[in-house]
Amino acid sequence: MIRVVVCGAGGRMGMEVARVLAEQSDIELVGGVERVDHPAVGTALGKGTIVSDLAQVLDKADVVVDFTVPAVTCAHAELCAQAGKPFLSGVTGLTEDQTAILKACSHGIPLLHAPNFSVGVAVLRRLVEQAAKALTREFDVEIVEVHHRRKKDAPSGTAKLLFEIVRQARAESSACFSRAGQNGQKPECQVGVSSVRTGDVVGEHTVIFGGPGERVELAHKAESRLAFASGVLAAVRFIKGRKPGLYSLDSILAG
Ligand code: NAD
Repeated sequence: MIRVVVCGAGGRMGMEVARVLAEQSDIELVGGVERVDHPAVGTALGKGTIVSDLAQVLDKADVVVDFTVPAVTCAHAELCAQAGKPFLSGVTGLTEDQTAILKACSHGIPLLHAPNFSVGVAVLRRLVEQAAKALTREFDVEIVEVHHRRKKDAPSGTAKLLFEIVRQARAESSACFSRAGQNGQKPECQVGVSSVRTGDVVGEHTVIFGGPGERVELAHKAESRLAFASGVLAAVRFIKGRKPGLYSLDSILAG
């Protein structure tokens, strides 16, 4: 049995992750964490309760899953590092300093951070890498991401990841996040990254390779948060009992 605490348990991802974990016979939800003024605090979650301080439920957990906000995910990672508890986070929009905090914590515990837990996006990343290498530089690249209007960070963590893959395949690439004004024609090797915020869209990413007389588009559309929660479930099963280190979704797909 893997005993799990979900942080951000009253949020969109936290609720979906808790729902999926609760259906598993090898997993026991032993509590949740929410911000102190959230209405879910004090309510039941699996065999436990949603509390406002991870320290109150940490000793019950084999694995801590976090879908909160960047500063909180760092604080939770540090608590887990002190307590020797494996930690999973899907939070995006971390600064470089915050990413460094997660990395430092991973010296003492297994820590998996993934800006996108969907298996479909893991495949998209590989396809983008292939296309960026196979197509000539005459094919310029654009990345478009679409999310619901309540998303707090832009561009999405996945769009940043996709840009990084293009940059690794084409070292000279530079990202452009805004094109307002008289900027002249698109510079060579510039990769435009556009963020659309509208309605209830769970998450869509399209990488466009536009060449002479043709265009290749590689796209992924998350139809529901189940796409991410399924990856989190796989990650929970993967991380328990691992050696300390920084893991990614690729670590799981590699076995
Ligand atoms: P959300 O706003 O619905 O949920 C965040 C939750 O964290 C809220 O309920 C909030 O009250 C809670 N929270 C804030 N401070 C807290 C604290 N101190 N202690 C405990 N809980 C606290 O947002 P969301 O859509 O669920 O997304 C959460 C994060 O996950 C975002 O960074 C988002 O970009 C990311 N995300 C990642 C994936 C992925 O696959 N990795 C998928 C979707 C979203």
